[in-house]
Amino acid sequence: MYSLIFGYGICKLSNNMIDFRSDTFTRPSHGMLQAMNSAEVGDDVFGEDPTVNKLEAIMADYFGKESALYCPSGTMSNQIAINVHTRPGDEVICSNLAHVYVSEGGGIAFNSGAQVQTLVGDRGLITAAQVQAAIQPDDVHKPHTSLVSLENTSNFGGGCCYNMQDILDISAVCDQHNLALHLDGARLFNALVATGQDPKVYGQAFDSISVCLNKGMGCPMGSVLLGSREFIKAARRVRKKLGGGMRQAGYMAATGIYAMENNIGRLTEDHLHAKQIAAVLREKSFIGEFLPVETNIIIFEVKGRFTPKDLTAYLKDEGILVIPISPTQVRMVLHLDVTPEMVERTCKVLAAL
Ligand SMILES: *Cc1c(COP(=O)(O)O)cnc(C)c1O
Repeated sequence: MYSLIFGYGICKLSNNMIDFRSDTFTRPSHGMLQAMNSAEVGDDVFGEDPTVNKLEAIMADYFGKESALYCPSGTMSNQIAINVHTRPGDEVICSNLAHVYVSEGGGIAFNSGAQVQTLVGDRGLITAAQVQAAIQPDDVHKPHTSLVSLENTSNFGGGCCYNMQDILDISAVCDQHNLALHLDGARLFNALVATGQDPKVYGQAFDSISVCLNKGMGCPMGSVLLGSREFIKAARRVRKKLGGGMRQAGYMAATGIYAMENNIGRLTEDHLHAKQIAAVLREKSFIGEFLPVETNIIIFEVKGRFTPKDLTAYLKDEGILVIPISPTQVRMVLHLDVTPEMVERTCKVLAAL
């Protein structure tokens, strides 16, 4: 009784839930906690945290970029990049589903005074022809187009991935028109393991890349922004202005180093789990349109005898947490705290519905 009312019991209860709401719900593993515990630290605002410096060097090297900056969140690294690439009144081109546009609290306007031109792509993936057509002419009436921002994988597109050729085509258009090209790579590692693409080609195609460590990589927090030496120097100043300069951040950066060494390859397991669950869901009459499952995200329409809210409530009683993301759709996200046994149990519960 006591344990149910006071902390421990409640915590244990929530640990028993199978949590598909997001890949941000992971908790640091034993190995990751050990890495934090033994991290060497210093004051990172003075550039003196050896663990932060090491993480930044590892990430820059992995993507073939000159420099990197450790940030508290993916939102902050995206917003810093947008701020460095634009001036107030400029226009940013991105998909209508882009996280930078729909899920960062209006940050582009708030932080950078820039406006957005959205393009409707295929599940959030836009093309070079669309970008080319959206660039504003050199005319005093028009905003100045300065930045294109892509997202890979595309979160609200059901975790779908860009073809490298499409990225290179967009990059060429940006070069021709002197536009910066940013990648919101919150789940870039999922795209890399799903497609086998070369991270260094990403480094060449984009002026800046933000990658999240707090999603499938399993860290409690953090994101890394990548770019040229000059870009990162400017980004470091913006991070400070936004209040993102952290002191002994090495304790957290150690989780990123641990994840780079241990958690990339295993993402294929999450992708396999997503396909296994999707195969069960697809047989169900109350499931409508399905976004193709390319990585760790499943987005499906719920119709007939369930609404997304009903289905969410029913599954919660079975110890399974999912999230309604629109009046008609539910999302499930796989991650490293969902074990094969949990996937098996979920498939059984769904099959019996
Ligand atoms: C999660 C996410 C981010 C950043 O999120 P934070 O919670 O601020 O780290 C950015 N872009 C996409 C596509 C995301 O899914």
